Amino acid sequence: MTTEPSFRESVDIMFNRAVKLMDLSPGLEQKVRVCNSTYTVRFGVRLRGQIHTFTGYRSVHSEHMEPVKGGIRFAMGVEQDEVEALAALMTYKCALVQAPFGGSKGGLRIDPREWDAHEMEQITRRFAYELIKRDLINPSQNVPAPDMGTGEREMAWIVDQYRRMNTTDINAAACVTGKPINSGGIQGRVEATGRGVQYALQEFFRYDEDKAKANLSGKLKDKRVIVQGLGNVGYHAAKFVSEEDGAKVVAVIEHDGAVVNADGLNIDLLREHIEMTGGVKDFLNAEFIPDGASVLEMDCDILIPAALEGVINLTNADRIKANLIIEAANGPITSGADEVLMHKGVVIIPDMYANAGGVTVSYFEWVKNLSHIRFGRMQRRQEESRHQLLLDELQRLGDDPSITWNLSEDFKAKYLKGADELELVRSGLDDSMRAAYQSMRQVWHSRDDVPDLRTAAFLVSIERVAASYRSKGL
Ligand code: NAD
Repeated sequence: MTTEPSFRESVDIMFNRAVKLMDLSPGLEQKVRVCNSTYTVRFGVRLRGQIHTFTGYRSVHSEHMEPVKGGIRFAMGVEQDEVEALAALMTYKCALVQAPFGGSKGGLRIDPREWDAHEMEQITRRFAYELIKRDLINPSQNVPAPDMGTGEREMAWIVDQYRRMNTTDINAAACVTGKPINSGGIQGRVEATGRGVQYALQEFFRYDEDKAKANLSGKLKDKRVIVQGLGNVGYHAAKFVSEEDGAKVVAVIEHDGAVVNADGLNIDLLREHIEMTGGVKDFLNAEFIPDGASVLEMDCDILIPAALEGVINLTNADRIKANLIIEAANGPITSGADEVLMHKGVVIIPDMYANAGGVTVSYFEWVKNLSHIRFGRMQRRQEESRHQLLLDELQRLGDDPSITWNLSEDFKAKYLKGADELELVRSGLDDSMRAAYQSMRQVWHSRDDVPDLRTAAFLVSIERVAASYRSKGL
């Protein structure tokens, strides 16, 4: 029987595959590969009349740039190896999208559904306290963000905890990203990872050569999409590609099973249904399939795993029928499955690129916090008045009876509107996702020894990290 490597081993295997194609000295290769440090903390919180002990981690993979950056995950599966693998992915992800951070990741072994909001606040604050006092949460050294099982609410508690412990730090808001707007957050952060998945798909579909490799053609419109996990990332990705690009989400897989509708599911209605009932079962106008994982093997054009690690592995890889898989989750494909899929001709848009939208917008949030001003505040009205000037002049020319054109009201309204923070964030995210894709595809197409986008992504990012170490004299 073939045994599957762990998530961490998978990341190592993929790293090795790429590094073999590079000309790094063994010492530098080792420096880039290893995880610099992992802090483990066990702390007690008095809840429901007794002390409960929790285990948490904060791992720092690479400090070639500081602060280091990476989410905090709340899940029962959290353990040191997983956190270290995720921290390594953060290093490569930041390098790929040129966010000026090293890589880090944190996790707390907990099932958030077992505790009420007040209890979760006590646990989160206590975990944050342990990390803050060791500078493992700090605006200039280590800046967490949301991940599986955490969101704006937890980030708001963390920033408040940091403020209580660092009352004179003027940059306190920058100690964590993914905060609610009223705690120093930025417009567009909640949707950012899913939005990045959409921009990544849009960019892929701009290149005929790339589509041909996946045996696809045309645009995103009417492409059949299957999404696993309708949480933060999966929901936004599914919503945007269906509502804005006209793709059909034909199946959604959740923890209790899957729902299928060949004509396309309404993502907002499905999300409401999940919020009300706790799962996808009994959703109207869709067939329910209790064995959700089997739906990963259904015929479709694009598969978006957006839930867990290792869901496409040696047990199901040869039955996957999707032409294109975009890894919205971290590590959904094991290294063994990766090889099987590559031989089948399936194109994989790798996690370190596909879900980098979150860290990209986190970077914008961090910059906003350090500059203490919302994006667009200084220039928006000035931009509008310059546009008004141009329109007035065009209108004046239009009054000339020898010229017969006129500007439509719709055009005028759109042209006159100066960009607000959300539009600027989306523009910056789109630009980052396009540039990163182009850097990967350039390597993918220009070298015969680079078989896929993942190897290309590793090559680009390892080279950037190595260059940064070299410039420090290492
Ligand atoms: P989330 O907790 O919001 O959503 C996860 C979803 O997966 C939930 O709806 C859950 O019910 C579902 N799920 C759980 N077990 C499942 C199963 N067995 N089958 C199908 N669905 C299942 O988490 P998220 O923030 O959306 O993160 C999802 C993935 O994306 C993770 O791998 C995370 O590391 C990655 N990611 C998240 C962000 C972010 O900004 N949130 C950024 C980068 C990467």
